[in-house]
Amino acid sequence: MIIDTHAHLSDEKFDTDRSIVIERAFNAGVEKIVEISCEPQYWDKALELLKHDNVFVAFGVHPNNVEKVSAEDYKKLELFIQEKKCVAVGEIGLDYHYDPSEQTVVFQKEFFAVQLNLAIKFNKPVVIHSRDANKDIVSILKDFKIIPKGVIHCFSGTPQQAKEFVDLGFLLGIDGPLTYKRSEALKQTVLKAELSSLLVETDCPYLSPQKYRGQRNEPSYVVETLKEIAAIKNIVFEEVLKITTQNALKLFNLEEL
Ligand SMILES: [Zn+2]
Repeated sequence: MIIDTHAHLSDEKFDTDRSIVIERAFNAGVEKIVEISCEPQYWDKALELLKHDNVFVAFGVHPNNVEKVSAEDYKKLELFIQEKKCVAVGEIGLDYHYDPSEQTVVFQKEFFAVQLNLAIKFNKPVVIHSRDANKDIVSILKDFKIIPKGVIHCFSGTPQQAKEFVDLGFLLGIDGPLTYKRSEALKQTVLKAELSSLLVETDCPYLSPQKYRGQRNEPSYVVETLKEIAAIKNIVFEEVLKITTQNALKLFNLEEL
């Protein structure tokens, strides 16, 4: 069973053929998809996607959107998180890439903590977005008495940083960029990581694997990342598939649904 644990199918880039893309994924052996809905304007569209049997959703506010969100949106978020098919809170976190000003950082940290508390309150795992911010993410998580389970989405960092997250109970989300030639450091990290700490995700429509580079990414392409992990670790594809799928089922409690 293949699972794409991180898709953005509500994105406008799928407006003309969303159902076809989902069908194509299911026909290609993808059995479950976790839609990540992290902008309030797309929340209703994500709810709509739940009519598909094997599509699940994570609701949250992305760090780059926290400034645009109203108190009313947060009330809505709290309700949406309680949806049966909402399997996580995310993606939430810190992104210092575009605006590392102190004011923005303080704001992002505040709403990261607010949403971590929501995840704890409703006993959901978290999907964490960390860009140029691994150190602060680790220190914020360590401040929590109860640290939720979760995944570091599109992990990029050193084996040491990977270990820090794994020690906190987190999985590492691996995406299409693993298949790029220049991703030597990430390949090293994946080589050193245990399969039991990896999840595969597409982040579609973004981050297309090498084979489809320059094109829109979609859930069926997650197989490219699975193949690359098998090649790096020099183990059979089926083993990578089996363990990463188990990891996903367990983290998001998908078998219960
Ligand atoms: Zn994403």
